[in-house]
Amino acid sequence: MHPSAFFLPTFLEAVRTNTEESIASIMTEPIPGVFSFAMLQPNFCDMLLEEVENFEKWVHAMKFKIMRPNTMNKYGAVLDDFGLEAMLNQFMEEFIAPISKVFYPEVGGGTLDSHHAFVVEYGKDRDVELGFHVDDSEVTLNVCLGKQFSGGELYFRGIRCENHVNSETQHEEMYDYSHVPGRAVLHRGRHRHGARPTSSGLRMNLLLWCRSSVFREMKKYQMDFSSWCGECQREKTERQIQCVKATKLVNYSLEHSYAVHLAANILLLASNTFLLYFRTGIS
Ligand SMILES: [Zn+2]
Repeated sequence: MHPSAFFLPTFLEAVRTNTEESIASIMTEPIPGVFSFAMLQPNFCDMLLEEVENFEKWVHAMKFKIMRPNTMNKYGAVLDDFGLEAMLNQFMEEFIAPISKVFYPEVGGGTLDSHHAFVVEYGKDRDVELGFHVDDSEVTLNVCLGKQFSGGELYFRGIRCENHVNSETQHEEMYDYSHVPGRAVLHRGRHRHGARPTSSGLRMNLLLWCRSSVFREMKKYQMDFSSWCGECQREKTERQIQCVKATKLVNYSLEHSYAVHLAANILLLASNTFLLYFRTGIS
């Protein structure tokens, strides 16, 4: 099948042109680090949904045990398990890596080389919501496939490294995203998030966890702070403020001690003058 059967022309054109400007032109960035763009043809969403449903029916009929997407989702299917692995890897390398190279260079965005792909299902008799977590990925692509639903917003709460994963959320880091079928959201795996309850209907999303072996290897040797972690950044800024304050304090005490020194010298001079005058007076 030709890529134009899957993707919207705007998306295809932007990635094929492959410049920072062309990629940025189809994106909205509602909060730093979260990008959203229209990606899939509606027909393709329907086809994929049908395929997942057929797969589940087949698994059920054969009484196979289906591998669930991850430790948090009970419903859904791993796409790599039904013959889509090579196609999805090609998709990641040709379409997601060029975008990630522009927006997430500091987490190996340009060197994505493996993935975990799955579909999740939310609604009545499915998973209802998803707790607050980070993904085992450098970059996550989350595309809504449909169908009809209400609720199910994705909430974001700041990007964190391993050391700061449970730290407080700052007000400016809070953002809720409402899914639209065919539209994709791209974020760092370490961008903390969760899904609010899908209050009615059925919502199915395609998730692609993209990983970079280069980034994972390099991270082992990283000793200093993570430039992409909100809390590491705040700590660094705080250290700089403290450093400036300390410098000011040193300057102040130096100036202060100079003033004391000057005053002492004036006093000494005055007392010497007085003594001289006194001695002169009595001689
Ligand atoms: Zn950190």
